[in-house]
Amino acid sequence: MEKNQEFTVTIEDMSEDGAGIGKLDGYIWFIKDTVIGDRVRARAMKMKKSYGFARLMEVIEPSPVRAEPRCPAARPCGGCQLQFMKYEEQLVFKERKIKNNLMRIGGFREEEIPMLPIMGMEYPWRYRNKAQFPFGLNKNGEIITGFYAGRTHDIIENEDCLLGVEENKEILGIIRGFMQRNRIKPYDEKTHRGLVRHALIRKGFKSGEIMVCLVINGKSLPYGERLAEELMQIPGMTSISYSVNEEKTNVIMGKEIVNLYGPGYITDSIADVTYQISPLSFYQVNPVQTEKLYGTALEYAGLTGEETVWDLYCGIGTISLFLAQKARKVYGVEIVPQAIDDARRNAKLNGMGNVEFFVGKAEEVLPEQYEKSHIYADVIVVDPPRKGCDQMCLDTILRMQPKRVVYVSCDSATLARDLRYLADGGYVVEKVRGCDMFPMSGHCEVCVELRRK
Ligand code: SAH
Repeated sequence: MEKNQEFTVTIEDMSEDGAGIGKLDGYIWFIKDTVIGDRVRARAMKMKKSYGFARLMEVIEPSPVRAEPRCPAARPCGGCQLQFMKYEEQLVFKERKIKNNLMRIGGFREEEIPMLPIMGMEYPWRYRNKAQFPFGLNKNGEIITGFYAGRTHDIIENEDCLLGVEENKEILGIIRGFMQRNRIKPYDEKTHRGLVRHALIRKGFKSGEIMVCLVINGKSLPYGERLAEELMQIPGMTSISYSVNEEKTNVIMGKEIVNLYGPGYITDSIADVTYQISPLSFYQVNPVQTEKLYGTALEYAGLTGEETVWDLYCGIGTISLFLAQKARKVYGVEIVPQAIDDARRNAKLNGMGNVEFFVGKAEEVLPEQYEKSHIYADVIVVDPPRKGCDQMCLDTILRMQPKRVVYVSCDSATLARDLRYLADGGYVVEKVRGCDMFPMSGHCEVCVELRRK
């Protein structure tokens, strides 16, 4: 096979990031935008020794799980990987991925994996409460905004992403019009010139409050008060600001925020807990599913009101504050100091006096506290990033011997590895449940309950 040569293949499997996989004479082809069961014509693009990447040219025979994507930009845009699959099938795919990883990587037998049905969304669109739109120019020199293409920073024009809120479109229209009228240029990564880099838009789904923060390559935004006046016409508009980012970087937000209107934050709630969210705060992007996932974590923690609980990798303390409603005392540990500032503020905002937060690495804070203060835990909850828990952290958990461990994971491969370690250390997997936080994407969260033998 040579580059640009075309061939026909049937898609048999799917990769972690949602590309279809087809095999031809033992050689593996990854073909984006295809789904299991499709018969397709594809063109060879890039080849390695045992696998290659091909471009979908034509679906010769569509799979029964194939769906017509709703978004016209579904193929070029890098945001969604699974729009070509019916939503029920996406859930089947994700559940299977979790189980396969637990068996293949974790070495669990099928009967050792007590899976509960994955929690999907009733309406798997417009679920994101946050979006960051880059600005640029099209070939005709007109200002455009949208999303980056799959592997490049080419902007795919799209002001109404179907995963985002309906207000995005109107807000982006106002910003674009404002830029045109006042001759404000979008930022150009190549030359490091131009002013407007991104627009961050957030909406509290429960409160209806909206935040707009323009990220600019400069110290000030000319006519900023005019922009604020126009944006204030939108119902729910609560906070308008800009962020100064003059660096040559892929990091979107700058560190400095300048307020144009409102208190500098919006307020929202998940279940009964209220949060203040500023432009730089972390906040879960799918609040509906977050409530389900963290509700499940709370259920699996099995609290009666007497327990001491550690919440490791606690971020802004979303899970900690959930747990604090039902526990005697909750300790949270998180590496990012600003997240802990938010966590403490949110604890106060909700009048919760039984939570305490530590800044530091879970694998350092936990052993240190264990050696020094002989801390105790009835339950330990972990919600680590994709790379999973550090072994030192797992070792300390095994030494502390909590009755239960609740593992919230965004990567079932590292979850499987860590569950094996805990299982070998004397814990039994009691429940495994997927939660689809990101419909149309290949990602999936999992919540696991472990009990000490
Ligand atoms: N439950 C949290 C989100 C957890 S995401 C919430 O709802 O806010 C994982 C978190 O782990 C991130 O906030 C990240 O900053 C933090 N983190 C990454 N490595 C860490 C480490 N070694 N020790 C402690 N926290 C870490």
